Amino acid sequence: MTGSSKVYGAVFCGFLMLVFFTGSGAAATGDETAPARDPKQAVDEAYTAKIQKYTTAPYFTSPLVNYLPASKTVPTPEAVLGDVAGAPGVLPYAEDVYKYMRMLENASPRVKVFSIGKTEEGREMIAVAVSSPDNLKNLEENRARLAKLADPRTIKLDDSEADKLVAQAVPVYYITGTIHSPETGAPTALMELAYRLAVDESPYISEIRDGTITLITPVIEVDGRDRMVDIYKWHLAHPKDFYPPLIYWGKYVAHDNNRDAMGVTLKLTENVLNTYVGWKAQVLHDLHESVPYLYDNTVGDGPYNAWVDPILTDEWQMIGSRNVADMTKFGMPGVFTHGDFDTWSPGYLMFIAAMHNGISRLYETFGNGGADTQERTLDPEEYARTWYRQNPPLPKTLWSQRDNNNYEQTGLLTSLHYFNENKRLFLKNFYLKAKRSVTKPAAEGPAAYVLPADEARPGLQAELLRVLQKQAVEISRAKSGFTIALPVKKESKSKKKEEAKEKEAAPSPTTREFAAGSYVIRMDQPYSRIADALLDHQYWSPDDPQKTPYDDTGWTFGELFGVQVARIADLKVLDVAMERVINIHAPGGVKGDGMVFAINNNAEPALATLRYRMKDEGVEAAEEPFESNGKKFNRGSFIIRNAGRADLDRVAVDLGLQVVALGVVPSAKTHPVRAARVAFVHTWLSTQTEGWWRLALDDLKIPYDYISTQTIAKVDDLNAKYDVILFPPVGFFPGPTAIINGMPTAWGNPLPWKNTPETPNLVGKNDSTDDMRPGLGWDGLAKLRTFVQKGGVLLTATDTSRFVTETGLVTGISTSAPERMKIVGSVVGTRLVDGASPIAYGYDEKVAAYCDNGPIFSLTSIAGARGRRRLGNELHSRPTGRGTVDDPDFTVGRPAVEAPEQPTSEIWETPPVTDEQRRNGFRVIPPANRARVIFRYADQKDLLISGLVEGGNEIAQHPAVVDMQSGNGHVVLFSINPVYRGETRGTYSMVLNTILNFDSLDAGRKLAEK
Ligand SMILES: [Zn+2]
Repeated sequence: MTGSSKVYGAVFCGFLMLVFFTGSGAAATGDETAPARDPKQAVDEAYTAKIQKYTTAPYFTSPLVNYLPASKTVPTPEAVLGDVAGAPGVLPYAEDVYKYMRMLENASPRVKVFSIGKTEEGREMIAVAVSSPDNLKNLEENRARLAKLADPRTIKLDDSEADKLVAQAVPVYYITGTIHSPETGAPTALMELAYRLAVDESPYISEIRDGTITLITPVIEVDGRDRMVDIYKWHLAHPKDFYPPLIYWGKYVAHDNNRDAMGVTLKLTENVLNTYVGWKAQVLHDLHESVPYLYDNTVGDGPYNAWVDPILTDEWQMIGSRNVADMTKFGMPGVFTHGDFDTWSPGYLMFIAAMHNGISRLYETFGNGGADTQERTLDPEEYARTWYRQNPPLPKTLWSQRDNNNYEQTGLLTSLHYFNENKRLFLKNFYLKAKRSVTKPAAEGPAAYVLPADEARPGLQAELLRVLQKQAVEISRAKSGFTIALPVKKESKSKKKEEAKEKEAAPSPTTREFAAGSYVIRMDQPYSRIADALLDHQYWSPDDPQKTPYDDTGWTFGELFGVQVARIADLKVLDVAMERVINIHAPGGVKGDGMVFAINNNAEPALATLRYRMKDEGVEAAEEPFESNGKKFNRGSFIIRNAGRADLDRVAVDLGLQVVALGVVPSAKTHPVRAARVAFVHTWLSTQTEGWWRLALDDLKIPYDYISTQTIAKVDDLNAKYDVILFPPVGFFPGPTAIINGMPTAWGNPLPWKNTPETPNLVGKNDSTDDMRPGLGWDGLAKLRTFVQKGGVLLTATDTSRFVTETGLVTGISTSAPERMKIVGSVVGTRLVDGASPIAYGYDEKVAAYCDNGPIFSLTSIAGARGRRRLGNELHSRPTGRGTVDDPDFTVGRPAVEAPEQPTSEIWETPPVTDEQRRNGFRVIPPANRARVIFRYADQKDLLISGLVEGGNEIAQHPAVVDMQSGNGHVVLFSINPVYRGETRGTYSMVLNTILNFDSLDAGRKLAEK
């Protein structure tokens, strides 16, 4: 215990320890209080007996949780569960957990429950505060103190003022459970933890209660929790059957709900972020279950995220090491904090704290995916003794949900106690990290990020700024134009030579001007860290000792949103006259006079929303750029005739689209832009990756029918119902046979995904089936083929692109997996190849895109041949012979002959047909049936924008987006993933363009001559 005001308490507790300490194995050091129960407080004997009964080995528990203190007034979790926390066969719904937390609130002045928002399906999320009655009474006063520490500008960065606040403030330790729905243990562990913190009178626990506010969200993924409990109930009702895998967790995504802390697209992220920031909490500690028996992966492994404060990484070490030490002394096996989890990506929920000046923590404990007690056998690597795990898990053991609850609670209680013992240090660090965020411009920089007023995509710019606002970042707007100095770039010598010529022609500018109205994200604000991390570029070295990145390696938001973001080092930017902006909305509406309306196409997704909102209006796209009233319009710009001006104006204002009224109809050739009827196909293998696509379409209000691969075969005539079928990525490269066959049906029982008496919450707003096992089937495949042959458009990405090439739905394109290439969730460069294609409408020559190892597309002009994968520029040198490399060879005794020149092509092009191939060339694919490449990957040297690109020559220059004609229809294949985690909004329009122009995809197409 630290702090002069607590000296008496420390002595008192030390005294208690000496007298009553019964020997737990974890002796206290110095004047710290030992973990031991208060012998004067009665124990709930029946509850305690059950704890012991359900704990499968004596070393799977600790003196902190091997008993339950009794209370005459406060109900134990048994009141709701009918058994103890972690009991076999018992898995409460979220509402049962809430019911219990509210019972605690009613029975104890030490508990308060707060509603923190709703999920996508309308279920409540809560946060439960447990602390002393005084602390709970003074929440607002305390919050005001914490707010000053959180924003050091309010105390003028005065350290002595901060010290006063640090001495008075009560810190907040925020614990979150069950974001991952099959990881089921946390809710009951947190129910019991709340009870202990509210009831236990032992010095060890009362110190936590008096000194710290413990804030608990027992269920993060509430929609998924209720589905998981349903499945478990179904399993209990059908004990001999296999049970359906949890295919849907939340409405949109599964495991990726813990990858949303950058984009903040899910309600659960937004609600936790608001709670964390609103409470000015110091810690965010998220509970997971996958690793035996407790991996505090806070310390994990490198590389650490470059934007976190080194003060934080020291805190990770402190808390992590102490956590392991305490539990090791309890004799609990398998507790460790180093491991293979790198802390690079800021997408994890707990990372909200790391990016907002707090402390992020994460536990992986061991769960059985339900409440059955089971024999569990580990892999050798899991039970190996390593340098960081001297007391490893057992190779084989009986494991119960109670064991898991014991580990979770013991870890949390020792963490809370250690945190409370050192709270002055951690509060001071909280202030220092915030202060260092505010002093960032002059320290490491940059001074600001500027999003220029002349942005061609103001709608996407506003979207990006709104993401930052969700992250509690302050946005300002320049009141006048300004000029800043650009940093002088040091060039490497070799590069210098290379670029010397270019430089002579055009010296690099030394200043840059920004117009009034440009957005400024100042780095002298408390949450500058998250803005910097999202807007900066990432570089993961191919030589990094970490060879298996845990998640994406690059995410630069400006690049992925397709908008300009300038990183400004010049401190003068902070002196520019500017004002804070709260409501960010792109300017929209109708301007000018005339009866014809035009909207420039800059690949803004809102254009598609407008098309569907004005479903009954005639909208056309210009196939060529045009100029009218002195204004330039890109290819694909919308032309709307005969629309009501007032209606159009209202929609355009709402969507932030600028409409120009023209006096004359532009002469450019046009074709109709249609509100296509869209089918959205998912498998029953996995729905997560397509979930991000659903989220994007729902946000844009693009309607679609959500159907499974099983449904395809059952639709009589797909063309009669749909114009476009989207088949987004399945997510784990399942291979064509898995998509066709689904899961094994030759044995086992049907796996229903539907609402039944045991599973009332299963279906939600998604899809249902009597049996998840069957896949697309061969009939379904034939239906898809017919759909395309008859004129439909099928759109695929990543693994579903591989599916259409390998099942022969398209001819002339093949996919291959990388050999040595490693592009692990990176931002890469692509280049526009065919700007006349409607798929490319609104795009520039260079487009940044998200790529996760391809697949690699290769084209061929010979049906049945596999496209040759080409690794960069190949030298077709002359054969060995006389002379220099350019000389003709000779043959002694006859005159020399010139070899005919072989046709050549670029890597992304379909190789031209040779004369030999054309002899009886029934396999030669006619020009109209060959691939039309819309975008290709950039050259190797330009491929990396952010993240890790190793061996990029395997995919460099290969096609990235391809339009294949097949029969009367099209298959549009993506190698990039254009719609991903709410982060890739700059590439959404490639998909939306395909939808809107589905019956004019051949516009502007130029065919090869032969
Ligand atoms: Zn997890």
